[in-house]
Amino acid sequence: MYRIGQGYDVHAIADGLPMWLCGVRVPSDRGFVAHSDGDVAIHALCDALLGALALGDIGHLFPDTSDEWKGVDSKLLLKKVMERVEAEGYCIANADITIALQAPKLAPLISTMRETLAAVTRTPVACISVKATTTEKLGFVGRKEGCEVWAVVLLKRS
Ligand code: MG
Repeated sequence: MYRIGQGYDVHAIADGLPMWLCGVRVPSDRGFVAHSDGDVAIHALCDALLGALALGDIGHLFPDTSDEWKGVDSKLLLKKVMERVEAEGYCIANADITIALQAPKLAPLISTMRETLAAVTRTPVACISVKATTTEKLGFVGRKEGCEVWAVVLLKRS
């Protein structure tokens, strides 16, 4: 009836790259180093969804050695992962995402992020949680070298 999954991802931050989180462009002159658009939050969510059904991981589904996924909008990856979830007869009961990023502040973007993920996954917004935290300037996140995201999802039989 229910399946639970967790996902984790990290991307390095560098100057002059776009910063995408939860399908939303974050205003910043620094962004994520990646083969795709670097949306580390969507990547963690995809791994949580795949993990819940023991379907492998995002790197296995969309290899970063393939030109097909170069610079890809991660919302498309999430859509494809949801197709797999739906094919197995499941939908999202709820999801909870925690983003660790030192800067910029994400608070003004959280509701747009929730709405974006809800639309792509066809889940009520009330069932999609996005939280942001700094690491109090500690570690690689605190030094603004990278962003770390954890995602947990509960799937239910649809
Ligand atoms: Mg990634």
